[in-house]
Amino acid sequence: MADTLNTELVVLGGGPGGYAAAFLAADRGLKVTLIDAAVKPGGTCLFVGCIPSKALLHAAHLITDAREAGAFGLTFAPPKIDLNVLRAKKDKIIDLNASHLLELCKKRQVTFLSGRGVFTDPATIQVEGGATVQFKNAIIATGSVPTKLPGLTLDSARLLDSTSALQLENVPATLLVVGGGYIGLEMGTVYAALGSKVTCVELTGGLLPGVDADLVRPLAARIKSQFHQVYLNTKVAKLAEVKDGIRATFEGDLAEKEQTFEKVMVAVGRRPNSANLGLDKAEVDIDQKGFVKVNEQRRTTNPNIFAIGDVAGEPMLAHKASHEGKLAAQVIAGEPLVWDPRAIPAVVFTDPEIAWCGLTETEAAKQNREVRVARFHWAGSGRAMTLGRSDGVTKIITDPKTDQVLGVGLCGPGAGELIAEGVIAVEMGATSKDIALSIHPHPTLTETISEAAETLHDLASHVFVNRKKVL
Ligand code: NAD
Repeated sequence: MADTLNTELVVLGGGPGGYAAAFLAADRGLKVTLIDAAVKPGGTCLFVGCIPSKALLHAAHLITDAREAGAFGLTFAPPKIDLNVLRAKKDKIIDLNASHLLELCKKRQVTFLSGRGVFTDPATIQVEGGATVQFKNAIIATGSVPTKLPGLTLDSARLLDSTSALQLENVPATLLVVGGGYIGLEMGTVYAALGSKVTCVELTGGLLPGVDADLVRPLAARIKSQFHQVYLNTKVAKLAEVKDGIRATFEGDLAEKEQTFEKVMVAVGRRPNSANLGLDKAEVDIDQKGFVKVNEQRRTTNPNIFAIGDVAGEPMLAHKASHEGKLAAQVIAGEPLVWDPRAIPAVVFTDPEIAWCGLTETEAAKQNREVRVARFHWAGSGRAMTLGRSDGVTKIITDPKTDQVLGVGLCGPGAGELIAEGVIAVEMGATSKDIALSIHPHPTLTETISEAAETLHDLASHVFVNRKKVL
């Protein structure tokens, strides 16, 4: 007969939200059990998300950089791509990380159980084919799964989602990417660099809907040269398997309404992974979209059960999950904390990258909130020019009355690293003058942030503001 385990805290789901929660709770002295369907912790982010996609994007950047080195007088032969080696490198990175996490479980005496867990009552989880876990507290950290397009599901190996696209079975001659969001653009960038003719179809009038248009513009311009076609305001009405591929029927303002592709990748969003977990038996309520209902401490309708990460609400980002996981662990350990971040950064790892945090101009307009915006175009940055990438932009959004930094946005290579300064500024309640008066190293791209701030205080060097005209 399978074992019955008694634990103070069980965490269901071993992604960056779940394992961060389990580790912190163990560090606070709780007896912790971590359950995941996979054989090691890591979750979607490590096995089929952030980490493998970034490994492939690194390879894509190497190819693109080598191709564009001609501008610096360097010419390389076209790359020879060994997909077996590339896949093995990606898998090795995943395995090293996952093994490290398993080692950290052992060091912290967190019991890791591999298997699918399902609630059978408000204080019990049954692991499929394994132990029965009776708990005092639980954290649901089961993440999200790709949304399936109604009517566009096809039983075909040519139809990819983000998971199968990362397997990199081959480099298709033609690839249709359905959805111009995070995943569509990141994976489209990978396949385009490897040699596929990529066509991207986006339902709305712009790529990355919801992201400030001035940040998307430099990316959209570059994607035009990387992708074969981008169709906006276009819907894929039908997919059908034909002899040499998948025929897509489009609805929209484009001439060729039917086109055939070797492969099609669908990336039209993700939905919370809250089905078939026995949540009703656990007395945990979900909302209409399937998100687990939580309060400001991430407590569910069952006061002993918490939920964090993608399953508990937007934005579906790993770092948001980790912070929520740590919050829930601390609350369970008796600390009186609530969820109250001012700035959750978002990064799209395309080329160029786009990153933002805090208030965006789009949100400010929705809220009818008056803001002051300072923009610095990278054409004025010496460092950007040395990289051959002066197409970027940095902006700071401030409160016109207090000068407090409310949000920061960037588009350009390294934007994902640079945004951390914006996060600190927003969280610390810094003013744009604080940024302008903080000495930034030269020559670096961080200066684009200080120069943007300087434009608000008549301190900028590399942009000319004609005060005579302004006054
Ligand atoms: P997304 O919401 O970013 O983009 C989906 C896109 O598909 C949208 O632009 C939408 O307008 C479009 N779309 C929807 N239906 C369509 C249709 N019928 N035809 C054409 N286009 C259609 O979703 P995603 O790219 O699948 O990513 C899911 C989530 O995963 C993201 O919201 C994000 O939270 C997370 N993610 C984050 C990162 C990162 O942090 N870098 C990377 C990948 C994924």
